[in-house]
Amino acid sequence: MAYATVNPFTNEQIKVFPNSTDAEIDAALDAAHETFLSWRETSFAERAKVMQNAADILRRDVDKYAKIMTLEMGKLISESRAEVELTAAIFEYYAKNAESLLQSQDLPVANKDEGRAKIIFQPLGILLAVEPWNFPHYQVARIIAPQLSAGNTVILKHASNVPQSAQAMDDLMIEAGLPKGGFRNLYPSHDQVARIVADHRVRGVALTGSEGAGAKIAAGAGAALKKTTMELGGADAFIVLEDADLEKTVKWAVFGRHWNAGQVCVSAKRMIVVDAVYDEFVKRYREGVAQLKMGDPVDPSTTLAPLSSQKAADDLKKQVEGAVKAGAKAEEIPLAMPNTGAFFRPVILTDAGHDNPARREEFFGPVTLLFRARDEADAIAIANDSPYGLGGSVFTKDEARGERVAQKIETGMVYINHPTMVKADLPFGGVLRSGYGRELIGLGIKEFVNAKLIDVV
Ligand code: NAP
Repeated sequence: MAYATVNPFTNEQIKVFPNSTDAEIDAALDAAHETFLSWRETSFAERAKVMQNAADILRRDVDKYAKIMTLEMGKLISESRAEVELTAAIFEYYAKNAESLLQSQDLPVANKDEGRAKIIFQPLGILLAVEPWNFPHYQVARIIAPQLSAGNTVILKHASNVPQSAQAMDDLMIEAGLPKGGFRNLYPSHDQVARIVADHRVRGVALTGSEGAGAKIAAGAGAALKKTTMELGGADAFIVLEDADLEKTVKWAVFGRHWNAGQVCVSAKRMIVVDAVYDEFVKRYREGVAQLKMGDPVDPSTTLAPLSSQKAADDLKKQVEGAVKAGAKAEEIPLAMPNTGAFFRPVILTDAGHDNPARREEFFGPVTLLFRARDEADAIAIANDSPYGLGGSVFTKDEARGERVAQKIETGMVYINHPTMVKADLPFGGVLRSGYGRELIGLGIKEFVNAKLIDVV
């Protein structure tokens, strides 16, 4: 697997990065272990200083970091800037909160004469982070900000198409004052990743990516009895009830399906609209999508970016063809398309029947699956007819009704009147084939610590 920067707007290969050698990997593991032994002894205040420095540097150099992401995976420059801001906010969150999140807890004991008991939270050691290209900086921060704050050290295997973004995060942490060895980006092959997972000093693996990658890495980690967290694919339901504010709902629908060119695990991939407003919603949605503008992602007037690579665009085309072969209807929205680049015209898929595999797939790009639901109960049933369980959203003017529906949706996150989103102070994660474990806030930091009981009798 060659690591390379290929600009998806021009399909031009900019730079190739050789794989890490076995010796480089061994040296990185030695350094990560060595650093762990001293880093775990540092105070929360010392670690917070490094996290805050990272946040400050990102905010100072927002354009520098944003440009690398747009160059490598093609997202709109405004979205890249927003991602840098989000990444900074995550570092700052843990600079401010890690100490209180990992406060020891006194346990209420039934009989005080029997002594006292408490739980303390201690770091585990080296963690491996395996990350995808769709949010090249934010995905990394989601692991390193909490886990470095907890006293762990981290080795990164980033996606092969964002090698410069990966290295930028490595450089960032050095500049922020993290001891060398505390966080290291490598360019390993998949076989070398398996070797890292098996190394006895590596204590856990956090993966964000596809189900296939998750299953392989989790199997390797399982064989070595190591904890993993898995943040995998999704096909979020976007439920529109008859009392929704249609104007706002359609605006969020167009955004929710097309930001980051539709390449988001929590994109609004399945729109489920109750019969009473279906026709009106579809008319307005089609009009909204038709107003998107494809173009150079660094041009501020562009609103629909290219996909991350030509292969991604070709694969998505085949996937749509498969859905049509199995009986779905595909409507392509005829947007003007630039002559070069990995562009993909938005597609609306309807009539995907129960046997259509499209109903159970994740379309990682601007393809909308549309469903007409008889009523609220039918909308919930369609939403839950999915192997995925990541996010979801419900649109209604009645918040209490929205909450009641949210409770019946089998996912890790549900938003009322907003597509699933990401914030530094909210947890993230799913159930079913979307994986397990949570990232961010206290739930995330506690995924890779030893909750140790100390009982004084
Ligand atoms: P992917 O192919 O699974 O790649 C993700 C990462 O795993 C990359 O670093 C990749 O490296 C690595 N990888 C894949 N197979 C591997 C193996 N056998 N051994 C070691 N490493 C391996 O995922 P993708 O298609 O690029 O990313 C999109 C997927 O990620 C979608 O399904 C999306 O929904 C999901 N995602 C989930 C979340 C979430 O939080 N739940 C967030 C973002 C994305 P290479 O590039 O070298 O193959």
